[in-house]
Amino acid sequence: MAGSSPDIDIAIIGAGPYGLSAAAHLREAGIDARIFGKPMEFWADKMPAGMLLRSPRPASTISDPRSNFTLEAYESANNITPAQRTSLETFVGYGKWFGQQIGCDLDQRNINTVQKENSSFKLVLEDGTQVTARRVVVAAGVGNFRRIPATYAKLSEKACSHCYDGRKLVGLGKRVAVIGAGQSALECAALLGEAGAEVEVISRIPVLRWIGMHPKLHRLGPISKMLYSKHDIGPIGISRLVAYPDMLYHFPLEWRDRIRTRAVRSAGAPWLIPRLGNAKITTGRNIVSVTEIGDEVKLLLDDGSERRVDHVLLGTGYSVDIAKYSFLAPDLIQAIEQFKFSGYPKVGRGLHCSVSGLHFLGAPAARSFGPLLNFVTGTEFASNALVSNLSRKLN
Ligand SMILES: Cc1cc2nc3c(=O)[nH]c(=O)nc-3n(C[C@H](O)[C@H](O)[C@H](O)COP(=O)(O)OP(=O)(O)OC[C@H]3O[C@@H](n4cnc5c(N)ncnc54)[C@H](O)[C@@H]3O)c2cc1C
Repeated sequence: MAGSSPDIDIAIIGAGPYGLSAAAHLREAGIDARIFGKPMEFWADKMPAGMLLRSPRPASTISDPRSNFTLEAYESANNITPAQRTSLETFVGYGKWFGQQIGCDLDQRNINTVQKENSSFKLVLEDGTQVTARRVVVAAGVGNFRRIPATYAKLSEKACSHCYDGRKLVGLGKRVAVIGAGQSALECAALLGEAGAEVEVISRIPVLRWIGMHPKLHRLGPISKMLYSKHDIGPIGISRLVAYPDMLYHFPLEWRDRIRTRAVRSAGAPWLIPRLGNAKITTGRNIVSVTEIGDEVKLLLDDGSERRVDHVLLGTGYSVDIAKYSFLAPDLIQAIEQFKFSGYPKVGRGLHCSVSGLHFLGAPAARSFGPLLNFVTGTEFASNALVSNLSRKLN
């Protein structure tokens, strides 16, 4: 480890879309950065096999400064026929290829600990190696934030898993209850049904919601452009607001929260509807209690009915809480100013938080800059914001 001068200028934690994009933009700006983690690990290991991206193709490209490494460029370089809906396999391949093209300094080891040490940071890698960095960019995604409602917390791993656990859907059991009404719940239910399981989706919302149910409005040329932004996040109007994170940042928090909640509320893509033909759908119901009895799980619903299943699959999404980033030292988490009653850090220009030299990209920045930051398409904004902020500081 170096003496007074940090070993590296910028350590990026996480080699998913946000980390890779930031590395590409920093490199172009001549700013030294090293990125830590296995490229696209969350997508490769935690997403259900067979899944398709919900985001449309134009919003599924990871941003690089010259737009050289688009999804189309990857497909063309690898003789992959572009499909209307991008498969998980293609997207993982794309992200890994993107990482190779940008020629960044990539260290595949995970970061175990980040601590503030005077004006810089000390990072401990998974093998115990220590590195110091002037700045840290956290791009660690949402894998740590899986929401597991208390009702299910005591079930064994055999009886219950979360959609983002990376468990193979085949083999969960013949009878599976899927809890939730968002894209991951509904897509897992479709995949399970197609694999021959008896599936029931149980959701507390009264009716399932579907996104993009007005395809004609997307085909009106310039009028559509006025109604929806290219990112295609949220309904008419909100979609346009979401495209201006810098503007949203100045909105009162209550408005920002409303816009974010509306834009990312539980809903499925309409192409899942025919694929859910075999699944039983129960809406407007809460699960009151869950008991593991031998190889079965007994679910008691609030209408008094009961279900017996082999496995409960939670499609209950995630809640951002930076305290769940176990690599951040407790005193560092304490020092980060957060929004009241939530685990979102307050971030400003350059997605910089209240601790000098520490930045958060992706979902943790969404309460400050809006729901664009929840999606791959937000990499363009995040990387540009980071680079312009750092370029100013370093010049
Ligand atoms: C089921 C599901 C479907 C989705 N579908 C879409 C979609 O269709 N389109 C879309 O735009 N978005 C989609 N999203 C949202 C998606 O998660 C984000 O858009 C995207 O992954 C954000 O990129 P990221 O780099 O912030 O996070 P990630 O892709 O999660 O990357 C973060 C990386 O950091 C790594 N990491 C974490 N901790 C450490 C550590 N200590 N050391 C080193 N590395 C670490 C993780 O392993 C991970 O690989 C989906 C999310 C889920 C869960």
